[in-house]
Parts: sequence; C-alpha cells; structure tokens
Amino acid sequence: MSLRRSIYKSPAQLRAMVEPGLITAAALDAVREMIAPGVTTGELDAAASALITARGAKSNFQMVRGYRHTICASVNEQVVHGIPGDRALEPGDILSIDAGAEYKGWNGDSAFTFVVPDPARPEVVAERQHLSDVTAGSLWAGIASLATAKHLGEIGAAIQEHIETHSPETGTYGILREYVGHGIGRKMHESPSVFNYRVSDPGPEVRPGLVLAIEPMVVIGDQATYVEDDGWTVSTIDGTAGSHWEHSVAVHDGGIWVLTAPDGGAAGLAPFGVTPQEIS
Ligand code: MG
Ligand code: MG
Repeated sequence: MSLRRSIYKSPAQLRAMVEPGLITAAALDAVREMIAPGVTTGELDAAASALITARGAKSNFQMVRGYRHTICASVNEQVVHGIPGDRALEPGDILSIDAGAEYKGWNGDSAFTFVVPDPARPEVVAERQHLSDVTAGSLWAGIASLATAKHLGEIGAAIQEHIETHSPETGTYGILREYVGHGIGRKMHESPSVFNYRVSDPGPEVRPGLVLAIEPMVVIGDQATYVEDDGWTVSTIDGTAGSHWEHSVAVHDGGIWVLTAPDGGAAGLAPFGVTPQEIS
C-alpha cells in the first residue's frame, strides 16, 4: 500500500470543495469592490479576512509558515507574494490579489489582477490592462484545455500558446518559470505541479478527481524575478509590471467545474466553447 495520497479525489471530496471555493470567490469580490486610489493593501487584507471569518472559514494563507496575512497584494513590478500593509494604491497601479479559504478541512485558492484607473496616463493603463487581459485569457485557455486534455502537460502548453499569440507587437510577455500552479484539496498546496509553459514530461493523467489551482504569472518584460528583502515579495528584475490570475478547478465525471467562480467558469470558458458542468 502506498502512503502517498492519491492526486485523484472521490466525488464526495469534490463536493466538499465547492463551499471553500465559493468563500474564496466572495473574499476576492469583497476586495475588488474596495479597490480605489488611497486605499491601502492592509485595508484590502482586512476586508478579505472579515469575509472569510463571517462565512465560518479560515484563511489558509495565515496557515502558511511565517505568513500572517489573508491576502497577497502585489503592486506593479511585484508579481506574486506581496505583503499587504500601509501602501496606498495610486492611479495607474496594477494590483494582483491572491487569497484562499479553508472550510471544513478543504481549500480554495484564487487570484485576480486589477488596474486602477488613471485618466492622466491612458497609455500606461492600456498597456497594463492588456497584460491583465492576456494573463486572464491564458488562465481560461488552460482551464478550457482541461476539459479535453489527456495529460496535465497540455494545460501548460495551452497557457503558453495563448500568451505567445496575444502578446503585443512590442515583445512577447514573460512567463514566470520558478513559480507554478498546484494540486489543491486537504492542503492548499498539493501535488502535482501545474506548469504555465510547455514541458517535455506529459505529466499525470487528466481524469475525474483531479483538482488543480491553475495560476499563470505573466510580465511585460523578462520573466526573471528576485525575492525582495521582506523575504516574500517576488518582483521582476527589469522592473516591468506583472499580472497573476488563478482559479481552483475540478475535473469530475460530468466535465469540469471552476470551484472559485460562482458561475463555475461559464463566462470565462464561453469563448473557448466549453460549458462547465456542476458537480453532482
Ligand atoms: Mg493563490
Ligand atoms: Mg495557488
């Protein structure tokens, strides 16, 4: 008998992951509604924390060793793992928010990017909004590929393909290589790794029971990053802006369902001709 937990979950376990996914989505909605110039990332963190607590859940980020916050808030050249605090948002900032909830022992994990309006710098806003739109599109392309993929490697190929074909003429966007998506379930981070780019290994089989947190991290310039002195924040070396989008997605007998989207991913998947199916 293997002591290793299977990466494939039972139908009952998949059903248990619906509520933490919805709580995670609600926490991110609460943050999204608050974003405005002058609001601090610490205030956004408090809003997410209050929502998760009110729903009877726990912040799974707070259970990560050494991390005390409910969200990660990454601004401009910060791509992921930014620590919320006193920083006030400014017009034109591109902000990625990542959060997750644990409910009855099961986890959700999701992220989105938002560009703060700036009438004085329309070209900066447009450049950053395009980055966010392409990153989100690559996430949906990856999720859509799950509906028909035989192996996990097809997801990363779909994500990379989308980014390469939608990058601006000024240069192909960079895809972070050192940070990847993951399985999710009893723990926020489980096997397998979900790459956001093509790899030679086809990876594990895609079949009912697989639950993945897919999370492309994309930058305007070069993908090389460093960790800031705070020990967490991942920023681009060339200083160009980054975007991070993430959803937790289940493969089940009837198809796929995006756990961290209230519509199961229907809107995001529609352009790809994929209809999510509720977990029964
Ligand atoms: Mg996350
Ligand atoms: Mg994640």
